[in-house]
Parts: sequence; C-alpha cells; structure tokens
Amino acid sequence: MSTTSRKPFVGGNWKMNTDLASAVELADNIVAACGQFTEKCDIAIFPPFPYLQAVGHTLGNHNILLGAQDVYFQPNGAYTGEVSTQMLLDLNVKVVLIGHSERRHVILEGDDLINSKLLAVLEAGLSAVLCVGETLAQRDAGETDQVNVSQLTSGLRNVTEKQMQRVTIAYEPVWAIGTGKVAKKEDAASAHAVIRQSISDLYSPNIAQQTRIQYGGSVNAKNASELFLESQIDGGLVGGASLDSGQFAAIVQAAI
Ligand code: PEP
Repeated sequence: MSTTSRKPFVGGNWKMNTDLASAVELADNIVAACGQFTEKCDIAIFPPFPYLQAVGHTLGNHNILLGAQDVYFQPNGAYTGEVSTQMLLDLNVKVVLIGHSERRHVILEGDDLINSKLLAVLEAGLSAVLCVGETLAQRDAGETDQVNVSQLTSGLRNVTEKQMQRVTIAYEPVWAIGTGKVAKKEDAASAHAVIRQSISDLYSPNIAQQTRIQYGGSVNAKNASELFLESQIDGGLVGGASLDSGQFAAIVQAAI
C-alpha cells in the first residue's frame, strides 16, 4: 500500500444486483472473509436500497460500513421515488456514493445536483465517496485532467475543510467501469496526482495529503495489488468483483 499514513478504503458497489436472499448471503460471506481486516482497511458495501436494512442486520457489530449508492438532497416532501439522508441514517448507513458514473451518464445527473447531494450527505453527518472520471472520448481528446478537476471542483463547491475529513474521492475512468479494461497503473497514478494537487489548491496541502483517493474500474483479485502499490492510490471502489466475497477479500488484502 502507499507510503503515506492514509488508511486504505475498499468499497463494494453492488449496483442493481442481488435479490434479498443473495444480498444477505453475500453480506454474511463478506463479514466472514473480511471482518478481520477492518483495523487495517476501511471496508464498505453498497447494496441496493431495498436490501439496506437486511444487509445492515447481517453486518451487525462488525466494523464493515453500510453504504448507499445514492441519496436525494431534499429532507422530505413530494419527491416520488427518492430517498433522504434521514432515511439512510435510520438504517444505520454510514457512507454514500455521490456522482457515480452510471448516475452521471445513464441517469444524467449534472454537476449542480451532485454538489447538492454531497452537501446534504455531509450536513447529515454521513461520509461520502465522490466519484469523478473521464469518458473514453474525453481521454482520447486529451481532456482527462480537465474533466477530473472540473468534476472535483464543482462537486466540492461549499464543502468545508472540516467536512473534507468525511470525503473520499473515487477516480473512476468511465471506459474502465464494468468493461474489464483497467487503467494502466501509471495513468491511474497520474490522474490521482492531479486530483490530489487540485484538492491542495482548493483547500491545503494538508487536506490533500489526508484525503483518500480510490481507483475504480474493473478492479479484481488479479490486478488489485499492482494498482494499490502506487502511493497515490488509497484503495478501490469495486463493482463486479465485489459480488464475489472471495475476490472482494483478496482486493481488501491487496489494499493493506
Ligand atoms: C463501480 O461500480 O464503481 C465499478 C468500478 O465497477 P467495476 O469494478 O465493475 O468496473
């Protein structure tokens, strides 16, 4: 893992997968396979909304964090289909994904909405993983750094220095998510360095050093070690491979 003192953080984003029985079984298997690693690595799982309560019960007092894949920024009211921060707090959720690429590019969430969601999460006392990343067309056009800095800057608007202690950034190149294509470790490290410099410019070198930046995009048990050896990479946000407790545990071990 990195030579810095940042505690690695591995998240498992289950997306719109599992059913009730398999969600509980997977959570149970993840507790068994990863429960002993939580002192050395923060671990979170992000099940679909309807299974948060059952998965939360399965996690019990183990220190694996219950995460939500999204939230709405309004506290309550006529927002059909949406879920508030208080609802997540009621279910013992600790951390929320904000601006995942599937929400940006499939559901078409914009920068202002993403920023409002992040502020709501932080004001509620929850932690957040803010996801940024370029598309293939943007990478090919040489716009990778510009896109990441822009998504980061707009996403973090009005987030205070103190709140930054509860923010993790996930660098997830869109072309690497769910495709089996992994960023080259040098490219990932370079994007992470640009993101960290940008946090330093927005806040301070100290905050930049403390903020964890995960890599996400087709991380699996085979490629995790090489990626996580890069000092800029503080763990991973894992989709497909997080549906297999054995692979997920191997990724956690690679992060330690
Ligand atoms: C993700 O869902 O954030 C992700 C990176 O997915 P995958 O690991 O399947 O590419």
